Amino acid sequence: MHDAQKAHAAQEAYCQEHGAPHFAPGPNSGYKCFRCKQNIYAEKGYSVVRLPRGKVRLDYSKEVPGYSVEKAGGTLICGCPFCYASYCD
Ligand SMILES: [Zn+2]
Repeated sequence: MHDAQKAHAAQEAYCQEHGAPHFAPGPNSGYKCFRCKQNIYAEKGYSVVRLPRGKVRLDYSKEVPGYSVEKAGGTLICGCPFCYASYCD
């Protein structure tokens, strides 16, 4: 199941339970990855093509699922499911 608010809450609970910092983008950024600007909790997003100088372009021919509520509640989110940008640095 995909629901950004619930997934974010599930990730927050996971982080508290494990004493881990919450890295994933939250409501203030619209749950969007800073690099590819896609909602990491969306049902689907797109793969990206890497461009020079750290930029990316969406590849609309390749759909990629975002993090589900279940995934967010069971793992520490450390990066983007679409462009693999790291949130942990
Ligand atoms: Zn991204």
